[in-house]
Amino acid sequence: MAQNVPLNLFTVKSPLAAEVIENKRLTALSRGPKNDVRHLTLRYKEKYAYLPGQSAGILPPATDPVTGKPHKLRLYSVASESAGDAGDGQTVSLCVVRHFWDNSVTGEKNIPGVCSNYLCDVKVGDSVSMTGPSGRHFIIPEDFKHRDFIFVATGTGIAPYRGMLKELFDRGYEGNAALYFGVQYGDVILYDDEFEAYRKHKNFSYFKAISREQANPFPGEVPTRNNKMYVQAKMYVSREALAESLKKPDSMMYLCGLKGMEEGIFPVLEKIGQSLGTQDSFVAKLKAEQRLKVEVY
Ligand SMILES: Cc1cc2nc3c(=O)[nH]c(=O)nc-3n(C[C@H](O)[C@H](O)[C@H](O)COP(=O)(O)OP(=O)(O)OC[C@H]3O[C@@H](n4cnc5c(N)ncnc54)[C@H](O)[C@@H]3O)c2cc1C
Repeated sequence: MAQNVPLNLFTVKSPLAAEVIENKRLTALSRGPKNDVRHLTLRYKEKYAYLPGQSAGILPPATDPVTGKPHKLRLYSVASESAGDAGDGQTVSLCVVRHFWDNSVTGEKNIPGVCSNYLCDVKVGDSVSMTGPSGRHFIIPEDFKHRDFIFVATGTGIAPYRGMLKELFDRGYEGNAALYFGVQYGDVILYDDEFEAYRKHKNFSYFKAISREQANPFPGEVPTRNNKMYVQAKMYVSREALAESLKKPDSMMYLCGLKGMEEGIFPVLEKIGQSLGTQDSFVAKLKAEQRLKVEVY
């Protein structure tokens, strides 16, 4: 169905200036800088229309020492509903993890990523240059009301679902929504209190796979590294409920987060497909029917 999706209202040549009004750490301080995830809210005067599932471009200040040119933009999933956290249509929120990397050529370790560290360090009152919104494939269809949705996230991949779930429940959603969230520790579960609060809706279920604190109960059927509880193992535990949703021809599944997460999840989907009598690849079928959306980075 054709949907009116705002796209690229602001560009690198003509960015939007937004003011930081909130920068809040979402994870336990004791987990250190590598588990530092921020909820940022940016306010602007011009209209920056967006839908949850789209991404905002952020232009880090300063130049790239390698190219001598301005740093390239980085994308961050919108973490708020389209009205924004403030509800007035003049803010967007992002969920950003501080990124570090190792240079295998020079041997240098723990190099701070340019844009994520810039964003994690911004202060209230700072101005941030934004582009976008971008992306139209990861959004919720307009005819959402009675569809079943399965949302699967690892890490900051939770961002789009925060806005999506808020919009669904604000708009009288009547299908079944299930959220599967994979994190390493119980004290780094992003927006946990918000998702817990949605349990008041009988049509919402919320599953947390805490890899370093829980064991995989089905290591034979769904192998995981060191038998840790990854999100695919949690999905396998509730495979019957997943099959119930996925057999509905208009149900949809979204995967967002770490690149490679799909490799663990697709075999579980294939098992569910077999239980539903699908002869060929269930993943291919879901993709062909535009019912499986993947955003990994
Ligand atoms: C659609 C989309 C949505 C996203 N949403 C989110 C989100 O919601 N939250 C979030 O936290 N992130 C998100 N990301 C990731 C985000 O865009 C950035 O990639 C991330 O923050 C890292 O950027 P950085 O500038 O901090 O790191 P960078 O400095 O860009 O480093 C990133 C990587 O580039 C390589 N690299 C950098 N410099 C060099 C060099 N000199 N030589 C060799 N290799 C180098 C390294 O492999 C390094 O790990 C998303 C990405 C996409 C594509």
